[in-house]
Amino acid sequence: MLYDLHIHTSASDGLLSPVEVISQARDIGLPGLAITDHDTVDGLEEARCFMEENSPALDFIPGIEMNTELAEKEIHILGYFIDYHNRLLLKRLQEIKEARLDRARKMIMRLANMGFNIDMEQVERIARGDLIARPHIAQVLMENAYVSSVKEAFDKYIGKGCPAYVNRYKFLPTEAIELIKGAGGIAVLAHPGLIRDDSFVVTIISLGIEGIEVFYPEHNHGQVLKYSQLSRENRLLITGGSDFHGYNQDENRGRIGSCGVNPEIMRNIFDYQQRKTKNQQEEH
Ligand code: AMP
Ligand code: MN
Ligand code: MN
Ligand code: MN
Repeated sequence: MLYDLHIHTSASDGLLSPVEVISQARDIGLPGLAITDHDTVDGLEEARCFMEENSPALDFIPGIEMNTELAEKEIHILGYFIDYHNRLLLKRLQEIKEARLDRARKMIMRLANMGFNIDMEQVERIARGDLIARPHIAQVLMENAYVSSVKEAFDKYIGKGCPAYVNRYKFLPTEAIELIKGAGGIAVLAHPGLIRDDSFVVTIISLGIEGIEVFYPEHNHGQVLKYSQLSRENRLLITGGSDFHGYNQDENRGRIGSCGVNPEIMRNIFDYQQRKTKNQQEEH
């Protein structure tokens, strides 16, 4: 049984609520999990409360996945064990949320100019009042029968370089790493294989990352070996997770618990976090 350290909920672009995610994890007997929504910590309190009352045996790690960009490349930084009440973190996340709203409006305008009738209320309803991301717009395109799948929406209209695509707010990996560490968390490079250029991976390592997401549904065996070795060479933690978003979306991604780390690797992560907390306490 694996610890799944990469799971999305309806607080960002996942289909299941935090409570539904925890219930499923408990039902399949997972030893532990991390909720890592894009650019938001809004699902974490609900998850923790439900967990404490209903499945205390499950290890719950509060997390986040920050979408950043470096030289036009999409770089995702995971944060684990974050203090989700940290003021600086919350302030920055609020700014990002507003910038995302603005961007969604611009994308909808572009779609309108292309003849697609979509209104913002519909997107907000799909997003359930939480953070807005492109998959929500894709779902509305599907609901209105303009496309037949999320993939088609991305391939034709809202993927990077497509006619309705609008750049996200500027957010650099260094800033994400600093915010995560500032909130007491561990900063980890998400799915390096998806970057498709390992020179970026080397750069991100030099920026002070503490771990690499080695186990990931879209990493092949060779990539798992390569990134494990890179982690060992640089004395970085190894992490992994399914990147679960819900069943009807992202078919090539895993189900809860289908990818992750074994208890021995999880032990290393817990030990690292404990040492870090202890050192920080001694400094104060
Ligand atoms: P955003 O942060 O709003 O730019 O949206 C990025 C999210 O869209 C990613 O985290 C993925 O979940 C999703 N995404 C990106 N590209 C695709 C794609 N080709 N097909 C399906 N989902 C995608
Ligand atoms: Mn996503
Ligand atoms: Mn990602
Ligand atoms: Mn993800």
